[in-house]
Amino acid sequence: MFTCNSLILLNFTYYLKLLLGFCMTIIPFITLEILVIKIIRCKIKDIKIDKNFIKKFIKKEGKLVFKVFILFIAAFSLNNILNNKDNKCYMYAKKEIISEYKTSYNALKETNLSNSVKEKYLENVLVIAYSNYNNVNKNNSVESKEKDNTENSKVQKIKNEIKVEDNIMKETDTTKYNSVYVQNGTFYYPKYNANNKSTYTGMYCPTNPLKEGYNNPYGYNNYFYIRLTNMVEDAKKNGYKITISTQGCRSYQTQVNYYYSMEKGRAISPGHSMHGLGIASDLEFYNQNGSVCPYGRTDTSCPSMGWAHKNAYKYGLTFNLLYASYREDWHVEPINSKTY
Ligand SMILES: [Zn+2]
Repeated sequence: MFTCNSLILLNFTYYLKLLLGFCMTIIPFITLEILVIKIIRCKIKDIKIDKNFIKKFIKKEGKLVFKVFILFIAAFSLNNILNNKDNKCYMYAKKEIISEYKTSYNALKETNLSNSVKEKYLENVLVIAYSNYNNVNKNNSVESKEKDNTENSKVQKIKNEIKVEDNIMKETDTTKYNSVYVQNGTFYYPKYNANNKSTYTGMYCPTNPLKEGYNNPYGYNNYFYIRLTNMVEDAKKNGYKITISTQGCRSYQTQVNYYYSMEKGRAISPGHSMHGLGIASDLEFYNQNGSVCPYGRTDTSCPSMGWAHKNAYKYGLTFNLLYASYREDWHVEPINSKTY
């Protein structure tokens, strides 16, 4: 899917949107004004407005009206074509979102993260900024705290946060856990071949992780587990309770069972789940009173989840199914993973 992760593209789309809006509103409006003024002028000059006058007027001004009408139709159609759910660029091309993107972009420039990590980071900034933009518009309340911040202090703040991520991104040990290894902060996993199930490492989920060199008893990839615990611990410091699932590695057979027992589209086909590689987790979010946030929750009704969704990227994590056709607000993966 086209994500529009570029300042140039975002700005271009923003101005294109402005231009189309201009063609659909201001230009027809001004044209109408001009025509009305012309008619009023004729009245002042005491020119009779009769059938003859209207004929002459249409003949004289018809071309202009026709041109403006064509411009309107063209702009209207183009706007409709561009304004669809799959065109993220059009969705994101909003002043507030671009400004947040720019701040993060400038903050990232001076870090030594790899380009692909920066890209992923910025992609997350877009998703979060868009979701914040919609929430703010829905609730009609702007976080005044953010408003007072100068651009410079915002860049500094983000830079400090990235340092947290920078530490996580230092994972350059290429030791494989479940055939997944990490290099420069990117998780590399084997490509699944449906005809050769042995390429799916989930078949070899460790039976006794702690005895097999894992840093956790659940079978999570060691590096992924570090990211998870970093986030969960910081959540705790902020007063939020979040727990990770105890199923750190899902076997191929378990995924087969899920796939055939759940409704269609709910569980991904066996071999393709990041759970099988130990690099995905399903989180449990808690309310202040200690109860689990029930389904149907939102970032506002369940603050611990809201906090996680907003801050996950700082720990090198992403809730990549938040906007999937089957929304999973609990599913978390590394921010950057690639096949090898
Ligand atoms: Zn999941």
